[in-house]
Amino acid sequence: MATPLTADQILKALRAEGVRVIEVGNWRTHNRNHKGAWGPVNGSIVHHTVTKGTATTVALCRDGHADLPGPLCHGVIAKDGAVHLVGWGRTNHAGGGDGAVLAQVTAESYDVRPTPPTKGNSNGSDGNHAFYGWECENLGDGKDPWPAVQYDAIVRVQAALIRAHRTKGDDWGTDAKSIIGHLEWSNDKVDPRGFPMPQLRTDVAERLAHPANWNPTTSEEDDPMAGITKQDIYDAVWLTDKVPAPADAANAKTNKSWAAQSVLTDLHARVRRMDATTTAQAAAIKALAGQLGAGADTATIVTAVETAIRDAVIHVDVNVNQKEN
Ligand SMILES: [Zn+2]
Repeated sequence: MATPLTADQILKALRAEGVRVIEVGNWRTHNRNHKGAWGPVNGSIVHHTVTKGTATTVALCRDGHADLPGPLCHGVIAKDGAVHLVGWGRTNHAGGGDGAVLAQVTAESYDVRPTPPTKGNSNGSDGNHAFYGWECENLGDGKDPWPAVQYDAIVRVQAALIRAHRTKGDDWGTDAKSIIGHLEWSNDKVDPRGFPMPQLRTDVAERLAHPANWNPTTSEEDDPMAGITKQDIYDAVWLTDKVPAPADAANAKTNKSWAAQSVLTDLHARVRRMDATTTAQAAAIKALAGQLGAGADTATIVTAVETAIRDAVIHVDVNVNQKEN
């Protein structure tokens, strides 16, 4: 048994999961509770909308249409990953389905997929009391793409639900078996089309293995520096057919105590030296410009520039050494 999350609880859970939430009108009290029960909730159903355009999709899901009054779900998951909350309570999204599926979802007793439903919207049992519903903006034609940011939002929403129920002590498991597609509930539905539900459950479970603020794009597994060796960096920086390596850069290749970071430190020192050299040259030339009219000869000019460069390089080397000690 799981009492539905309150509006405040779902809002908090979604935001903690990193979901960008847009609250639409009086979503907290917009529902179909006057038509039947809501709860206990034992699962969540993912849908596609067969619509194009976020504004019209959200309006349709909030208001419904002549044959089916809204709200038609709890939240619309848009192409850009934003989640528009349109209702909270009983909503018209699950319709009729197979009670055997609800039993398997409640017990989390199925393996990869629930047993295929033998009942549908026209002859099945009511699912609107037992499931949260999420309408995902997509034409459902098998061609309309699912942007990564939208799919990521779908994963986050489902993980947020499970995490919130677990936090309040409900038996919602960790392997995402509370999450099904509409096609797994009703035998006359095909949504969502474009990604397999077992994969979504795997991705939700993976997310649940991390804290709510987990951001996969900055995780260790996706670290762009992971697996890069000092040899890789050396080769990238000092490929001899492009830029000949200075003699002392060979240290980076042969000295075993050098980490990849040392190569970058070395490069940084070189860049600072070049920068200081250029600055010193500019200053020397500017100073010389005033002397030219007074008859300065070539030797005077060359000596002045070389002195300025030498002073600059010594100055920088001292700074680098101080920093590394
Ligand atoms: Zn559906």
